[in-house]
Amino acid sequence: MLKKLLLPLAFLVLSVSCCGYTIDFGDWIATPTSRPTEPPGPTAPSGPPPPPAELTGFDWQDRSPFAANLVAGWQPVLDQLPGISFYNLSLVLGEDLRQVNGLEEIYYTNRENAALDRVWLGLFPELLGGQIAIGEVRVDDRAVTPEHSLGMLAIPLEPALPAGQAVVLHIEFQVSIPAQGGNFYYGIFGYNRGILSLAHAYPTVLVYNAEGWNNEIPDDDGDPLFSDTSLYLVTVNAPASLVLVASGREIERSLEGDRQRAVYANGPARDFYLAASPDFTLRSQTVGDVTVRSYYLPGEEIGGEQALDYAAESIRLFSARYGSYPYSEFDVVPIVTTAGGVEYPGLTAINADMYTGHDPYLEVVIAHEVGHQWFYNLVGNDTQDEPYLDESLTQFVTCQYFADRYGRSGAEACWDDLQSNWDYADDPESPIGLSVDDYSGWDYVSIIYGKGAFFFDALRERMGEAVFDAFLRDYAAAYAWEIGDTAALKRLAETHCNCDLTGLFEQWVYP
Ligand SMILES: [Zn+2]
Repeated sequence: MLKKLLLPLAFLVLSVSCCGYTIDFGDWIATPTSRPTEPPGPTAPSGPPPPPAELTGFDWQDRSPFAANLVAGWQPVLDQLPGISFYNLSLVLGEDLRQVNGLEEIYYTNRENAALDRVWLGLFPELLGGQIAIGEVRVDDRAVTPEHSLGMLAIPLEPALPAGQAVVLHIEFQVSIPAQGGNFYYGIFGYNRGILSLAHAYPTVLVYNAEGWNNEIPDDDGDPLFSDTSLYLVTVNAPASLVLVASGREIERSLEGDRQRAVYANGPARDFYLAASPDFTLRSQTVGDVTVRSYYLPGEEIGGEQALDYAAESIRLFSARYGSYPYSEFDVVPIVTTAGGVEYPGLTAINADMYTGHDPYLEVVIAHEVGHQWFYNLVGNDTQDEPYLDESLTQFVTCQYFADRYGRSGAEACWDDLQSNWDYADDPESPIGLSVDDYSGWDYVSIIYGKGAFFFDALRERMGEAVFDAFLRDYAAAYAWEIGDTAALKRLAETHCNCDLTGLFEQWVYP
């Protein structure tokens, strides 16, 4: 995700890269995301209920449908990653785009060292301004009674599931989508101005790690989802008039009357996301084996073309630096959000107001969100407990994009602007390694999106550029599809530099 505080960067980059527009960013710079203290709740959906959800049949052990989602160089990973969760998910959208009938089965393997007596799932729709009702839940075809608390679902496993064993979780659910989702987590879950943004719409298995289950309600300043790599076979049934934009690769499509049915193979990935509008138009281009698709609204062809160019160039430059982009497709889609943009696997949703054709911030946002394909999706991290590992690092690689594309002047403008972010901090000395909810006021944005990038710059300075570049490329490879953390980052960096970085981490990172 990229916050609006960063908009001054666009102005500076603009002045060195192109065009010579004069833009007043006054409204953008100092406007924090506003949220009501109490969710207003969605207005009632008005249309008839959607048809029932039905699953697409397949074999749990057969990962071959996902080959289409990956470039050739990454397809061997499908023979690896033993025991990652496999979702067979069905989402049926109502005519009013405010209701979803959902059904999922998850082939869940206990990959931990202990027997598990329950599986925790996040119910994000009710944290994002909508609602989710849970219907029948079964474990290996046996009906069970889950515990449903706000945003969370605990499914009992009786007897406890031993390490290495698997179960199939069957969950029926109905989702109500808010019309005013912009007040929650930046509007990533809502139907606004004819655009549906369906983020985290299904019950999602949470991460179990040394802390146990990560089942705390996420702080709404940060990204809500922390998840393991999984496979998602997703069937979307929707009104035929909609253009659907989804994570993953479409592998089946059919039309039945006024309804369409599409099947997406998405994975390995950390999430499934869907956007839809009857008004989207598409332009695309290829970068190597990757098809980059840019969707845009009527009258915004120039913005759509720019988005396509920035995304394609980001894929190209980051692939060269951090290892090849894994998927055969990357989508860019405009949504109504109070953020600049939001990252999802194989896709980024961008603030629709930036498609004017003369918004230089579009390039910053898209470079940032594409950077997350490496540092959030490929290498995961706890986005709530250690947000600097995805957000600060992605700010750093955004400046690398400007350096690689525009040379020194582009990089300097980028860094000048991250400095101005840092300058907003109430406590500029605050370490970058805090959790989202440990920062107060503006400091989450100022420290994580400003100061944090300078830590990676200091690390580069300390290690030397060539060693640092090799280290960061190795970090993306060594922790691909896994979870990185501060200890892993430090250990790998020290291996590369053959030096002790404890002092540097104490100076910048540790609380
Ligand atoms: Zn971000």
